Amino acid sequence: SKAKMFDKESSINVTFQDVAGLVEAKQELEEIVEFLKKPEKYTELGGKIPKGALLVGPPGTGKTLLAKAVAGEANVPFFSMSGSDFVEMFVGVGASRVRDLFKKAKEKAPCIVFIDEIDAIGRARGKSPNMGANDERENTLNQLLTEMDGFGTNSGVIILAATNRADILDRALMRAGRFDRQIHVELPDLKERKAIFDVHLRPLRLSKDVESKFLAKQTPGFSGADIANVCNEAALIAARGNKKIVEKEDFLSAVDRIVGGLEKKNKIISKDE
Ligand code: ATP
Repeated sequence: SKAKMFDKESSINVTFQDVAGLVEAKQELEEIVEFLKKPEKYTELGGKIPKGALLVGPPGTGKTLLAKAVAGEANVPFFSMSGSDFVEMFVGVGASRVRDLFKKAKEKAPCIVFIDEIDAIGRARGKSPNMGANDERENTLNQLLTEMDGFGTNSGVIILAATNRADILDRALMRAGRFDRQIHVELPDLKERKAIFDVHLRPLRLSKDVESKFLAKQTPGFSGADIANVCNEAALIAARGNKKIVEKEDFLSAVDRIVGGLEKKNKIISKDE
């Protein structure tokens, strides 16, 4: 059904172990896991549990994975929607989807609501070039703000949102009692890339010449998603060559292919600007 597109609820078996690197982000989110597991511990002393946190960082760095891991660690339901689902929506539909999503979430609390690409709806109001669509986007944003203000601080619903453009977000979203925490998720460094390779090499049948440290050195600037892609691509290249194991050269071909793809993407971006 169509509704499913916007408020998928699922039980999650992702944990922090599946997220390589990102030590600081995990530490900050650990606190939210604690709030979800033992809310009384915090509220008994009169404290207010934060309503949400914004995950900020480049594409493919593990923001969605982290949000799922929070739900998995706390063993609570995970509701998600993407800001881009709301682009080109009929009048009134966006706002009512948001209302429905929060109604369901409140019924299932404690839980996580994850909003991917929140910039698609959360751009500063009155700053979009496209006026017609803008009204509906603003309605959707206003509904989101209303929902965030409407439920009690200790309702057990925690909203995580992801963006790679925190700078364009409406300041109203960042006000106290809304997304008052920002968690930065950066591209992985050498050590982190090695750790991400270790996660994604695990399911592959590998030749002895494949080493995560070497692969990490070959992939500066790659995101976690790019690395997952390299591992999968290498396995497909090996299979295409009728091999029984995945070898170093398959990884190098996969890296080349993905670097090619990245270069093409960058060229398109620079042409636009
Ligand atoms: P986007 O901004 O494009 O939505 P994102 O930051 O939400 O991206 P994810 O969707 O979480 O990125 O990452 C895509 C995939 O990349 C993950 O499902 C996972 O396979 C891999 N990945 C990314 N970061 C990590 C990481 N730190 N550890 C392990 N795998 C990772």
